[in-house]
Amino acid sequence: MNLLIVGAPGTGKGTMSELLIKAYDFSHISTGDMLRSAISAQSPLGLKAQSYMDEGKLVPDDLIHDLIVERLSQDDIQKGFLLDGYPRTLAQAEDLDHILKRLGLKIDAVIDLNVDEEVLSKRITGRRVCKDCGSIFHIDTHPSQKEGVCDNCGGELYQRHDDTLESLKTRLDAYHQSTQKVVDYYLEKGLVHMIDANDKPETVFEKIQEVLKELS
Ligand SMILES: [Zn+2]
Repeated sequence: MNLLIVGAPGTGKGTMSELLIKAYDFSHISTGDMLRSAISAQSPLGLKAQSYMDEGKLVPDDLIHDLIVERLSQDDIQKGFLLDGYPRTLAQAEDLDHILKRLGLKIDAVIDLNVDEEVLSKRITGRRVCKDCGSIFHIDTHPSQKEGVCDNCGGELYQRHDDTLESLKTRLDAYHQSTQKVVDYYLEKGLVHMIDANDKPETVFEKIQEVLKELS
């Protein structure tokens, strides 16, 4: 089974991806991770990508295309994969279809995580990150034992500059502008499964598992 997971910042996409990979042994395809590893490996693709990012530009679609083709051609894809963070635009979604067709593959389901904006803003603005070890806490749902101090290493906890309401609004607008078109594209194909992701992670994951059970 091949899945695509989509969700705005704060919907728990990262957590759900981790749980899915653990439970179903999917190959995880994240263009963000792939770019980072290509860059640290200094591969020709990585060097090209780096030059765009150094200028503060988006990595162009043809580079992402090459990255995806290379990844989807590897053997472990046959056991099923989870696409995360791609496609982000309608053009990328259409391109992905061509790539998959050529390789004899297809997307079986799109998991769309939905969280109310009010819940999202609570999740994001309450997040605190350790300056030293990167551990993540939340002032309501996962507080540190001592306020402002990391449970794991004693480091100082801080609020990331983009974890503010204003920044969330900007990120949400950007997300909806591009990703809604991607979701619509797959809606037309009847592949989208809307998941109410307002609940705690265990409950959300159970809902996803129910969807997958029906599909298999
Ligand atoms: Zn820490």
